[in-house]
Amino acid sequence: MTHHILIVEDEPSIAELIAINLSHAGYEVERAMQTDIASALMKDRLPNLLILDWMLPGKSGVQFAKELRANDRTRGLPILMLTAKSEESDKVLGLDSGADDYVTKPFSPKELIARVKALLRRQTPIEDTGPLSVGPLKLDPSSHRVFAISSNLDPQPISLGPTEYRLLQFFMANPERVHSRTGLLDNVWGNEVYIEERTVDVHIKRLRAALAPLDCDRYIETVRGSGYRITKTPTQI
Ligand code: CA
Repeated sequence: MTHHILIVEDEPSIAELIAINLSHAGYEVERAMQTDIASALMKDRLPNLLILDWMLPGKSGVQFAKELRANDRTRGLPILMLTAKSEESDKVLGLDSGADDYVTKPFSPKELIARVKALLRRQTPIEDTGPLSVGPLKLDPSSHRVFAISSNLDPQPISLGPTEYRLLQFFMANPERVHSRTGLLDNVWGNEVYIEERTVDVHIKRLRAALAPLDCDRYIETVRGSGYRITKTPTQI
């Protein structure tokens, strides 16, 4: 299957560089100079991955990413953010807005392709675990859906971004055990690409925020100095 990638970048030379390299790597590429054009293209067809520049005329990449994450149709779309900013706080802000990964300009085309491949690989299931259940949380890998079950309500669906889904699936397949940040990076992100450990914390925060409305965030525990775990008997009330 040929993956379809949409590039939203207003600088023609950079958009061209990315498009040529992705085409050579076998991807089908579409380009938009700004977010309203990207929205129009995505109405017809959702890409497999979005490469999104931070600084754009009109709506910024950060704002656009937030909107895509708030929308059921585009919530699961993998987003790779491009930016000239390299401050650590900006990286966290970029990830907080809903991006799954982050590349700072100037970047080498080789690095960008490696990150695109890693992000698309993250879309494929970890392994066929069958339906998973921890406490009130149910995850069905075949339908890619997550529900919270409570005694007096119908199952409540939980919408997750692609990285958060994969993170939750890994936790639920390996419950009660403490996972270090490094271990999570290897198992959830794959170890082909260097990603900072702090990235894990950002996605844990996003996962908890998605679980919080159904009071399920407490099942993801922080184990101080060690990492994170999912437990069916949370200590926090
Ligand atoms: Ca720009």
